[in-house]
Amino acid sequence: MPEGHSVHRLARQFGSVFVGERLSISSPQGRFAAGARRIDGQTLVGSRAHGKQLFLTFDNDLELRVHLGLYGAWSFGGDDTFRGASSIGAPRRVGEQETSDDGEELTYAGPPTPVGAVRVRLVASHGWADLRGPTACEVLTSGESAMIESKLGPDPLDPHADPEAFTARVRRSRTPIAALLMNQSVIAGVGNVYRAEVLFRRRLNPQTPGRELSTTDVQALWSEAVAAMLNGVRNGRIVTTDPLIWGGGVATPEEAHYVYRRAGKQCRVCNAKVLVSELAARKLYWCPDCQS
Ligand SMILES: [Zn+2]
Repeated sequence: MPEGHSVHRLARQFGSVFVGERLSISSPQGRFAAGARRIDGQTLVGSRAHGKQLFLTFDNDLELRVHLGLYGAWSFGGDDTFRGASSIGAPRRVGEQETSDDGEELTYAGPPTPVGAVRVRLVASHGWADLRGPTACEVLTSGESAMIESKLGPDPLDPHADPEAFTARVRRSRTPIAALLMNQSVIAGVGNVYRAEVLFRRRLNPQTPGRELSTTDVQALWSEAVAAMLNGVRNGRIVTTDPLIWGGGVATPEEAHYVYRRAGKQCRVCNAKVLVSELAARKLYWCPDCQS
């Protein structure tokens, strides 16, 4: 499942390639036909992420809310002028035209015939985006969006987020901190990779009830999540290990994490065996020595 950093990159992508454009919006698959009609032909005026949710705002005061869930994905394409600031794979140059005999560029031919179950297709003058397989995809009024956002916890990638709301929730809970980190109403955007890695980086035992952590510990955990997720937005992938581990070049997937998906391997810090168990229905990885 994409974690918050990917959704923030998507919001940027929409901001840079579609905001200000009038969009043709359809549901080639048909499942979203009624929703698409409510925003078809409107101009996109904003895009934002809150945790794992993406909100696209149109000039008729309606918003498209998308949660990708486990299987959802966006794909982008367009002509040479269609480039995103972020590169969730810089838009594929689908629909690009070869030059004609006299060297003149042919015009953009439009998006290709939809392949597979495309829930929503957005088409602008120079490019398009297709959404497949989301968990949530709906049109909301701004008031309805605000209601949904009010139930989400603070997002470490939001510069205006209130870390005190996170600290307060954690410190009055008997729930293990590893479960609290996966609860989107406590902190929005953290997923399974970040939870394992930030807990390791703070050397916190994942099973510790929130209320047994000190305020300083919880504040430091928030700061760790902010730093790790900002890094994810910059690089487009989750790398939490110290650059010394991968020699300063580019971390291989195996070098990118301390404990995530490293069950049975030696801890990079203390050489103990990394453990895995189930918590909040997801696999939890940790080092029994560093995080005792
Ligand atoms: Zn260790």
